[in-house]
Amino acid sequence: MALSYHCPKCDALLNPNERVVLIASYNNQKGIVLMSSQLGDYQVICDKGFCHEVAAGDTIDFICPVCHGSLTAKNHEHFAELKIVNSEKENHAPCLLRFSRVSEEHATFLYDGDSVKEFGEEAGGFHDEMTIEGDWGW
Ligand SMILES: [Zn+2]
Repeated sequence: MALSYHCPKCDALLNPNERVVLIASYNNQKGIVLMSSQLGDYQVICDKGFCHEVAAGDTIDFICPVCHGSLTAKNHEHFAELKIVNSEKENHAPCLLRFSRVSEEHATFLYDGDSVKEFGEEAGGFHDEMTIEGDWGW
């Protein structure tokens, strides 16, 4: 499945190849992080100098590298959000992706307009909050 990830604010493509490029910010430090474009894959490549500052459980600010807008979800500040388009399907409606901003917390929700899919071993803990029908932030 070829997924393209876009900034919900400026619509810039954020995965020009396999990896999704984001700016992460924590404690006035910023670094580039490369996230996997495969849903449920939490391997991240990041600037070692920046990663060194971040411990498991820290909440990261994710920023679009193109417009520098914050990717924090408005109604769910625990999460950052991105727009996803399945480029193999014609006329595919964009989906909304929300992933936890907390370092090493694996919780991701994909809203495709009809359903919500969960990824990551910690997603279950947010299930009730994140899958309420009609509250998908569209
Ligand atoms: Zn942007």
